[in-house]
Amino acid sequence: MTEAIPQPRTEVAADQFEDSAPASAKPGLLVLAPLRLEANAVRRGLTRPGSQVLHTGMGATRARKSADKRPPHPFGAMVVMGTAAGLSDDLSPGDLVVATEVSDGETTVPLPGAGLLVAELRRAGLTARAGRVITVQKLVKSSQRLRLAADGYLAADMETAALLGAADGRPVAVIRAVSDAGFGPGLASSGLIRGGIAALRSLRRAAPVAEKWAAACRERTVLLAGPRSFCAGVERAIEIVERALEMRGAPVYVRKQIVHNTRVVSDLEQRGAVFVDELDEVPDNATVVFSAHGVSPAVRDDASGRGLSVIDATCPLVSKVHAEARRFAREGYTVALIGHAGHEEVEGTLGEAPSSTVLVQTAEDVAKLSVDDPAKIAYLMQTTLAIDEAADVAGALRDKFPQMRAPGSDDICYATTNRQAAVRAVAAEADLVLVAGSANSSNSVRLVERSQRAGTPAHLIDGATDIDVSWLEGVSVVGLTAGASAPPAVVTEIIEALSGLGTVTVTERVTTTESVQFGLPREVRR
Ligand code: SF4
Repeated sequence: MTEAIPQPRTEVAADQFEDSAPASAKPGLLVLAPLRLEANAVRRGLTRPGSQVLHTGMGATRARKSADKRPPHPFGAMVVMGTAAGLSDDLSPGDLVVATEVSDGETTVPLPGAGLLVAELRRAGLTARAGRVITVQKLVKSSQRLRLAADGYLAADMETAALLGAADGRPVAVIRAVSDAGFGPGLASSGLIRGGIAALRSLRRAAPVAEKWAAACRERTVLLAGPRSFCAGVERAIEIVERALEMRGAPVYVRKQIVHNTRVVSDLEQRGAVFVDELDEVPDNATVVFSAHGVSPAVRDDASGRGLSVIDATCPLVSKVHAEARRFAREGYTVALIGHAGHEEVEGTLGEAPSSTVLVQTAEDVAKLSVDDPAKIAYLMQTTLAIDEAADVAGALRDKFPQMRAPGSDDICYATTNRQAAVRAVAAEADLVLVAGSANSSNSVRLVERSQRAGTPAHLIDGATDIDVSWLEGVSVVGLTAGASAPPAVVTEIIEALSGLGTVTVTERVTTTESVQFGLPREVRR
């Protein structure tokens, strides 16, 4: 086994620019650091060949001169790294501020994708926040700090705005380490030194993260799967809670997550919805909404016995499966329910006819299954299964019980079917697939699996900050979709974050269009 030999990196003073051969085949990271101490700290942290550090000099005039010159080696992405004055009392020396935009008081440059970098820095164990950075002419005094903070700035420096032009259209980011913070009368010199040391240490630790970020930078295409995101059942369930809040006022209790998505749940929580696991957490006489995944009759009976005012947001397509379970059980059939143990929808359906229903998750479960009357067996499915896997289990059941009855119409719902077909289409063209959705969202997890089975790496993310930028290294085409419970805004957020890593061309691959709508229950009709 050979050991990698550390490659020297380049540190060049602003007045020493000269043409030279590329430092590596793929242009790497260029770091601009105003002070020599900052440049040295960053250089000590760098790990990749091809990274170069340029010491630009302190203040806007030197920075502007540096930005006009050509760095010694080609570069693919640029990061301005240095210390800064923190403008918030909750910042401490050594904390990192990643700029969402940089202003010189007149012109503002937005930097999309700061959130991706913040998330990477945090994963590396650093304290980092995204925020607005202002470049000022002179060192900031405490009265000026208060004014800048009131204007919404998080950090102030003396160079960044003048340096951004050096990126010359390439991806650019700004990482400033706080050397002193707050609005007090000013730090004693010992405090300034301690703060400066903490800031330099953070810059050194941030350097490999900046390299990782730069390695992910490139122009890329985003292939949007269509359809994606909210289905009719999820839109209906969310609207039911919104209307219940409007018509009955907060709090409105919701049993379980209304839909399996952390963004949706936290948004409704902020508006007055209270999510509970079980009905015993709901006060007497309160309003309770049943989630889109449905409930068993035992839960309905409990609510009715307690005198709770119930609004049922069960998706009509889940209710259809419940009705089939009741019908088959009434007719004396054993119901083989194909689904995932523990999923709320499965628990609700099992509860319709518990003594007549058995859960089968795999073909192995089918092999072990024995029923009283093999001529009287029917199968049903959870609505959000992977189509091909569910078909395998149904096939095994049919082989074992040739007289088995099937549901009247497909149980796997239109939204699950359509999103799986759409993600398969983009996975065929993409280097990587990102699926927006929460970890407990069955249909979102199935989209990840669907892509992976097609041979394309895929990741489930609740939002843009879950993206590990190393996934994007060497990736030119990203397939992007969202589970049926993930809001469309998350897709927009992900595209915006990716655009911080280089120009993004968005193309949509629509495999079908949807027009399904469900009516609202009478309790929330106006
Ligand atoms: S995924 Fe299907 S079953 Fe679930 S809420 Fe949406 S439409 Fe209804």
